[in-house]
Amino acid sequence: MEIDARYSRQVRFEPLGEEGQRKIGAARVAIVGCGALGSIQAEMMARAGVGLLRLIDRDFVELSNLQRQFLFEESDAREALPKAAAAAHRLSEINSAVAVEPIVADLTPSNAHELLEKIDLILDGTDNFETRYLINDAAVRSGVPWIYGAAVGSYGLKFAILPGQTACLRCIYPDPPQGTQPTCETAGVLGPLTATIGALQSADALKILAGSPPVARITTVDVWSGEIRQIEPPARDPTCPCCARRDFVYLDGSRRAPVSLCGRNAVQIHERARPLDLKALAAQLGLIAPVRSNEFALRVTLDPYELTVFADGRAIIKGTTDIGTARSLYARYVGA
Ligand SMILES: [Zn+2]
Repeated sequence: MEIDARYSRQVRFEPLGEEGQRKIGAARVAIVGCGALGSIQAEMMARAGVGLLRLIDRDFVELSNLQRQFLFEESDAREALPKAAAAAHRLSEINSAVAVEPIVADLTPSNAHELLEKIDLILDGTDNFETRYLINDAAVRSGVPWIYGAAVGSYGLKFAILPGQTACLRCIYPDPPQGTQPTCETAGVLGPLTATIGALQSADALKILAGSPPVARITTVDVWSGEIRQIEPPARDPTCPCCARRDFVYLDGSRRAPVSLCGRNAVQIHERARPLDLKALAAQLGLIAPVRSNEFALRVTLDPYELTVFADGRAIIKGTTDIGTARSLYARYVGA
């Protein structure tokens, strides 16, 4: 009876119904990235009553997250709690019937199989293309649907990828974008935008879990101009290296930028074939922190870290020996 009362409003929604609720209750969902999008998705999945929620995140809560990351509080930032752990604690208070598994880790080719196995659906809460291509490889290989989402400034988009049925990420974007990309750190991001995109992704997730086909179009939203658009996605590419030829280069790690410990208290990220426009990057970063640059490199101080970025995309991050932290800083400030 208690269960009935808790979910009665969504069970009464006819396209979902009791059968849909039963499926949602049995579902195992992974959320990769528990920031702004991920914390909305996680809360919606927990409130909707999924069976298991696996939260994968490599970051710690910071004060600058609180403007849009709805699961976190000032005390989480003060204690610099891992986002996955802070989120799991909050979610257990929202719905104690959901099994929540916090995983404090960077999703990598070496752990993707373990972390994404026996999962019915993956929600993209990441902020970088490298991880999204890895999710795409893992999802296509095991035939698991995943919901892409991205948000910067006031503009974002989402679309559902059903392996074998819809275009996959590599059908749509064969390769990651080159050069400097705007990030939430350099271009900012609005809470209403991330809440909107996270909610739209969550609606697709509930539809898929309940057994209905998701919205087959790409939805784009600009919460500042108010423009919302539906775009027909391209058809599946019959020559797609991922979903047609099943060549999973991101999952086997051959596309992953090598990372190594570099001296004392520093990590080197040496991306290949990713030339950067240092002038543009210096201008972007100069808005948020002191930057020194020349034609070969730029250096930005982000206390307690110092990033030195080279024109070929390589970077040395001082102030940490943790590869996950270094990758995260690189993704946030240089783009992924
Ligand atoms: Zn494809």
